[in-house]
Amino acid sequence: LLSKLRDPSLVIDKALVAGEWVSNSEGGGRFDVLNPSTGDLVATLPDLSRADAARAIDAAYHAQKVWAKKTGKDRAAALRRLYDLMIANAGDLAVILTMEMGKPLAEAKGEILYGASYVEWFGEEAKRVYGDTIPGHQADKRIVVLKQPIGVVAAITPWNFPNAMLARKFAPAVAAGCAMVSKPAAETPLSALSLALLAERAGIPAGVFNVITSRDSASIGKEFTENEKVRKLTFTGSTGVGKILMRQGAEQIMKLGLELGGNAPFIVFDDADVNAALEGAMISKYRNNGQTCVCANRLYVQSGIYDIFAQKLAEKVSAIKVGDGFEPGVDAGPLITEKAVAKVEEHIADALDKGAKIHIGGKPDAKGGLFFQPTVLTGVTSEMKVAREETFGPVAPIFKFDTEEEVVEMANNTEYGLASYFYSKDVSRIFRVAEALEYGMVGINTGLISTEVAPFGGIKQSGQGREGSKYGINDYVEIKYLCLGI
Ligand code: ADP
Repeated sequence: LLSKLRDPSLVIDKALVAGEWVSNSEGGGRFDVLNPSTGDLVATLPDLSRADAARAIDAAYHAQKVWAKKTGKDRAAALRRLYDLMIANAGDLAVILTMEMGKPLAEAKGEILYGASYVEWFGEEAKRVYGDTIPGHQADKRIVVLKQPIGVVAAITPWNFPNAMLARKFAPAVAAGCAMVSKPAAETPLSALSLALLAERAGIPAGVFNVITSRDSASIGKEFTENEKVRKLTFTGSTGVGKILMRQGAEQIMKLGLELGGNAPFIVFDDADVNAALEGAMISKYRNNGQTCVCANRLYVQSGIYDIFAQKLAEKVSAIKVGDGFEPGVDAGPLITEKAVAKVEEHIADALDKGAKIHIGGKPDAKGGLFFQPTVLTGVTSEMKVAREETFGPVAPIFKFDTEEEVVEMANNTEYGLASYFYSKDVSRIFRVAEALEYGMVGINTGLISTEVAPFGGIKQSGQGREGSKYGINDYVEIKYLCLGI
């Protein structure tokens, strides 16, 4: 790994607690981070305990008070320096990301730029956390509304975007004047640590950003939700774990930001530009090898174009090159773990059992390991697991539908409500369907919706809160109103 880097010091095998890089947990344990493409050891990290998390929270508690007193402009300047460092080191950060997560190097580079865009955006927003003045309700009253940082924010992030999912939380928190204690996924902690190192180099003070590396996520999650110095928890991950954290946080009425699972429908109407829809489907379904919470999980294609769409999608999918993310020209890396492979296999087996057909793929890739063939299934119905559960892998199940009404109902028939997509050229239908879809985000004639300038987030069991845009900073401030008698 080190030989691929311009700046090898960006690879860190320590955690960041209270401004110190620590090699040992109190219990002394360590855990391995493996490259999912090769199974090779990437690094060994301290397996921190709940007590370490408590120490980090204490430090964040004190550091936050000082950080909050800085001007928005000072905080903006620090985030700008971090943004510049992320851009200057994007090549190395991408290598580290591919090494621990497996995605193709070009996609990893894209993720670093995407993560950095939140740092840039919220740095700019730091100067614009405006309050309000409200005309008084009585002649001798004046009303002022302040927005103040929430305080210590705990963050738990997943392995699928090891840099961007954290940057998207860290940047608004720090911009608003909060301090953060984070726990990255144990599969991919290195990207979080290099981000923390750059934050340190950018002049973000000790204690404002802590990174707890640990395999014992349940204990760390308990500390994050039960410690009364933590005032908000922001989590990206599965709906199941989101529910656990929400239950735990209920004891202290903890504020929560939750970006949970999705079950995105991708609808192609007869009147769509089919080639554009195919391109959108490729991006939405196969980006990150199907391992994003906004990936198309269910493709609904209107009956008039069903066969041709399936045929052409299979042709495009046959061109996807699967392999090690460092190999030139690779489009899809491995899945993250054996468990992920097993889930994909289970979903395919269940669909075949209930009458679906494999159009292409369907099996582990000949490369072995965690590589899986990009797959297209046809003849898929609502009774199959792929209709209800997030597959999180390179499987495109194509459902057939006849009417707009029917497909909107099928699309909404899920407890999830994160991303949705549809293709149509009829402007009346575009508004009708966009308004009828019960989702936080709707991509219309596009398969790619993520950007720092727009509010990312879900409804129903896909979560609460929004990340990015002018709305994002609101998740990290409290509103206080001053009623002044004069
Ligand atoms: P995924 O299926 O993407 O791994 P998870 O929700 O299991 O989704 O994991 C997302 C993050 O939540 C990871 O950092 C993981 O370590 C953490 N996590 C898993 N279980 C718990 C838990 N009980 N409490 C707190 N964090 C958890």
